[in-house]
Amino acid sequence: MAEVTRDTILEALKKVRQTDGGQDVVSLGMISGVVVRDGNVGFAIEVDASEGAASEPLRQACEAAIEEVPGVLSVTAVLTAELPTQRGAQSPGQAPPPPPGETAQAGLSPSQKIPGIGAILAVASGKGGVGKSTTAVNLAVAMAADGVRVGLLDCDVYGPSIPRLMHLSGKPETVGGSQLMPMENYNVKCMSMGFLVEEDTPMIWRGPMVMSALEQMLKDVRWGELDILVCDLPPGTGDAQLTMAQRVPLTGAVVVSTPQDIALMDVRRGIAMFEKVDVPVFGVIENMSYFVCPHCDQRSEIFSHGGAREMAAKLGVGFLGEIPLDGEIRACSDAGLPIVLAKPQSAHSAAYRGIARRVLDLCRTAQDSGERRAPNIVMM
Ligand code: ADP
Repeated sequence: MAEVTRDTILEALKKVRQTDGGQDVVSLGMISGVVVRDGNVGFAIEVDASEGAASEPLRQACEAAIEEVPGVLSVTAVLTAELPTQRGAQSPGQAPPPPPGETAQAGLSPSQKIPGIGAILAVASGKGGVGKSTTAVNLAVAMAADGVRVGLLDCDVYGPSIPRLMHLSGKPETVGGSQLMPMENYNVKCMSMGFLVEEDTPMIWRGPMVMSALEQMLKDVRWGELDILVCDLPPGTGDAQLTMAQRVPLTGAVVVSTPQDIALMDVRRGIAMFEKVDVPVFGVIENMSYFVCPHCDQRSEIFSHGGAREMAAKLGVGFLGEIPLDGEIRACSDAGLPIVLAKPQSAHSAAYRGIARRVLDLCRTAQDSGERRAPNIVMM
């Protein structure tokens, strides 16, 4: 069967024109967030907020054009209004109008704090497989072991891994009709799409749906009082991650990378993404930094250790620490018992704890300076 790609989709959408017979929807820059998963296609059509209802025929025409593409199994197009401006350019206290399809209640303005939640930390990576989720989990558990009230939010709706890494299963309890209780293990409160849908359910998420699912997991979950909510972002620096960085009121972000050049190029993109939306990057964590042979204790620098530290210095962001490549880290993750709990005395656990404390300090500093700045920026 023909492979459906983003380009195939854009090519097919070029046949769809506005009703006035003018330019096509792609040339007009109306299409965004194209997602193609195994023949299931989703995308957003950006229209003027005042033309929401009148644009329905256009939405249907777009879906019809894609249904005809060989290899397409399903298509979901949604209308969205123009994206809000960047966080930095926005007046404080002024929430952007929510796009149609997302209720005003669900919309979070970047400046809006979530009641009860102190800091929100994003754990990001330029690409998948670098150990981002493993790092997020070990940091969260290390913080909890220090007596910090921690939540862990799995923002990867496409490939949630927190349930497995935190050894959690089952469905969260509903309270008060519309709120969900987070699941809890190792003194960390967790929420993940993995608790809400069956593991093998294909997820056809379009951009706005991802955001509204995420906003619900932030706001409609009874987190209680948290000092910090650690958000395990989906890997990469695409539209979905950018929207999250923009719309979730993040205190700061850390970027996880392995030390190879190829991964480090993605770190640059990750940092640029957060800078674009004015989220402070606390620093880079080098994962799989080096390897110590468990038999002879000899250290090998498999992926040319130190690259992330150099890249951080070059880009002017902090370097938070390095975690070795170690079979025990993987085995503990696979068993759903993070190494900081399974082997608290190990050097690896000490490394995670050191990074966790540094990150907490940075969150507190960012919050303090944010609070000090607040009165100056409230001007009409
Ligand atoms: P990501 O979230 O970046 O996709 P994961 O955290 O899922 O990555 O890690 C990918 C794989 O690498 C997992 O099997 C995990 O157990 C393993 N892994 C992560 N960090 C390490 C490490 N420091 N040493 C050994 N294995 C690791």
